[in-house]
Amino acid sequence: MELSKRNMYRFPWSGNDNPIGWLEVTDKCNTYCRGCYRINGMQGHKTLEQIKEEIALLAKWRNCDNISIAGGEPLIHPDIMEIIAYIKSLKMKPLILTNGIKLENNRPMVEELKRAGAIGFTFHIDSEQQRPHWKGKSETELFELRQYYADMVHDVGHMTAFFGMTVYPGNLDFVPEMIRWANKNIDRVHGLVLIGYRNATMNGDYDYYADGKKIKLETSYVFEDTQESYLESKDIYKKIKDEFPHYETSAYMGGTNAIDKMTWLVSAQLGNRHQMYGSVGAKVMELFQTFHHLQHGTYVIYSPSNKIPKIAMLLGLFDKGVRQFNGKFLKDVLRHPLRLFQPIYVQSIGIIQGPDLLEDGRVDMCESCPDMTVWDGKLVHSCRMDEWRLYGSYVVAQRKVEEGAEIEVNGNGNVIAPDAIPVNKDIINPN
Ligand code: SF4
Repeated sequence: MELSKRNMYRFPWSGNDNPIGWLEVTDKCNTYCRGCYRINGMQGHKTLEQIKEEIALLAKWRNCDNISIAGGEPLIHPDIMEIIAYIKSLKMKPLILTNGIKLENNRPMVEELKRAGAIGFTFHIDSEQQRPHWKGKSETELFELRQYYADMVHDVGHMTAFFGMTVYPGNLDFVPEMIRWANKNIDRVHGLVLIGYRNATMNGDYDYYADGKKIKLETSYVFEDTQESYLESKDIYKKIKDEFPHYETSAYMGGTNAIDKMTWLVSAQLGNRHQMYGSVGAKVMELFQTFHHLQHGTYVIYSPSNKIPKIAMLLGLFDKGVRQFNGKFLKDVLRHPLRLFQPIYVQSIGIIQGPDLLEDGRVDMCESCPDMTVWDGKLVHSCRMDEWRLYGSYVVAQRKVEEGAEIEVNGNGNVIAPDAIPVNKDIINPN
């Protein structure tokens, strides 16, 4: 199947009806990741009262199904158990986004987090982290650590474990190994989150303004050269698709300006510990969102269970992806009959392509951004919250123009006459 928006389901999420509420309880962290967009320790831990206010605001204005508890590193916050219990009391699912350092050799804390109400974790582990005892380890060497967390959470039971990594050009070739590891552990790895690395351009082409005043941009994602900040979601998709025929995406989110951009690409693969059989199609993705909203009043992104009842094979009646799964699974059962009685699991792969600075200075964000967080009573993009923390507003990039250059309306022909607007014939005659 060609990677195209027409072949996928566009998530129905919006600003006021979105499964995720992004909550940052602290900006302190016990490690350093090169791609991090939060300045470490500028404000420290938020108070429990402030955090409860933010949770209540997210519940009221976002109609969330889950609260993603982030930071900095949320597990170093002294009130983490109360925070989780409060989220649960508001009937939302507390999911912890962590680097896991606090949980190393600390199973009792996992059990305590579970008792407090946490549904699970997204472990952020990659080779660009200055992680104690694991510095300089390759992505492959870090599998030992990923396996450790996956096994521990599985052992504690009834919790989810997702694994996230920032994808740089330098570790893009490693992505297939990550998929292979996850597939092999499909009973305990609920999903992967692959985030394309992004930084802000400081190559002198743009001036930056906040609240109308020119500024020197000093967020953590400012770098002189942008040689690494170009991977698109389709690059990561292709890296996976080239090696895993069963893998297919079935849902997406677009960009706020660029019509062809896919900022979120989501796949739900189906298989067992022996073999992967396929991925659900757009119809099942649509049914899942719609049914959850009808039943619970919210859209959904994290499902507590990754086991799929065999009756779900009937969905093949109207979903192409499930039909293909049925064919491969039944063929395998003919070879290995006992597999008919073994569980089938679903495993998600989410690819995220963050903000892009467009030629004209506009910033293309993820539409209906799922990771909106609270700043000063407002909802802001968590990836750009430091702009609010430093400058009290979003930063605007403006392409540098020659001193004194002016645009004269209907003056010197700068304004394009309607009949001079180029027409992209390919769009008119796609075939
Ligand atoms: S726009 Fe939203 S979803 Fe996209 S990278 Fe930023 S915070 Fe994440």
